[in-house]
Amino acid sequence: MLGVLGGGQLGRMFVHAAQVHGYRVAVLEPDVASPAGAAADLHLRAAYADLAALDDLAGRCAAVTTEFENVPAGALRRLASRTTVSPPADAVEACQHRLREKRCFAGAGVPCAPHAAVDSAGDAAAAAMAALLPGLLKTSSLGYDGKGQVAVATLADLPAAWAALGGVSCILEKRLALRHEISVIVARGHDGQVVHLPVQQNLHRQGVLAVTQVPAPDVDAATCERAVAMAVRLAAALRYVGVLCVEMFVLDDGSLVANEMAPRPHNSGHYSIDACDLSQFDLQLRTLAGLPLVAPRLHSAAVMLNLLGDLWFAADDAAPRSPDWATVLRLPGAHLHLYGKTEARRGRKMGHLTITAAAADAARATALQAARALGLPAF
Ligand code: ADP
Ligand code: MG
Repeated sequence: MLGVLGGGQLGRMFVHAAQVHGYRVAVLEPDVASPAGAAADLHLRAAYADLAALDDLAGRCAAVTTEFENVPAGALRRLASRTTVSPPADAVEACQHRLREKRCFAGAGVPCAPHAAVDSAGDAAAAAMAALLPGLLKTSSLGYDGKGQVAVATLADLPAAWAALGGVSCILEKRLALRHEISVIVARGHDGQVVHLPVQQNLHRQGVLAVTQVPAPDVDAATCERAVAMAVRLAAALRYVGVLCVEMFVLDDGSLVANEMAPRPHNSGHYSIDACDLSQFDLQLRTLAGLPLVAPRLHSAAVMLNLLGDLWFAADDAAPRSPDWATVLRLPGAHLHLYGKTEARRGRKMGHLTITAAAADAARATALQAARALGLPAF
């Protein structure tokens, strides 16, 4: 039996991959309505910091991982005193705080956006912050899908922006001119061996991932190679074991900047289930269980469309209804994944649709048809 902390869709897809190999999986997740818990062999309903529940999980499992970067690092340390845990608690902890994360980037020689900590009213009024404007003020922890961020145009706006984020520990980042957004997913084994998925090109809408295309249509091979090298360097510097995703920006001059990292499989890697011979969840399983790592091969071009809860609402005041899956499923190479969430809400990740094809042009053309059928914008 293998264990997972966290009960969302990432855990659910891990459960599926592990069960294919004959493993049983236990999920620790407080919420009764849990996409991973529903698929798991065992759902332990307890808080992540519940020591008795952690010890119970450790006692049952040969190895435990996490699908959620905000699990308390102390929970991972407790588990690690009793069973195998990956990724390591230190690496997960680094991903929980934007300033620590940027220090890791610097330590691994990986460039990131110019930034400064804004932890007090004094910081928010400091003249030196002008060099980072226009910029983005982000909470140091617990931000996701563009939440916990505000754009700041001038120094005069900074104190109010900081107050609007609750006056918590923040980081001000210079707003960079992005040519493209990409991500790199690597898997590193206990022995230090590293494999990676092909580079993903990502489109965000309102701070939320909307479309992933592989192969990256607008990024040349040399840039992709540099991106992979950066992610590999980072994983080695963290003595990482498991699947690590590094989000990066391609700037106008072609240079690469790391944005943030996730100590787990990533939304931008979901296409790998249908387009690669080993998915990011297979890689997570192999690193966790100490199974051999083999370089994944992309056997089809792929476009992934995220399916947010908005698709369930035809009009603002309408009751939720299922989107027109039949039309979408008539398209060649359509792979529909729904996470079994009981309630559709705007902005909530309900599922994703991957379109695969022999060539990138065909995958894109079909994905555009799917987007039109679902009422999603073109890309
Ligand atoms: P989250 O944790 O919400 O994903 P990110 O830091 O990845 O937070 O920011 C979300 C999106 O905002 C990014 O994918 C990118 O589109 C945009 N963004 C973030 N930081 C910058 C920046 N320094 N310059 C320009 N755009 C940025
Ligand atoms: Mg992000």
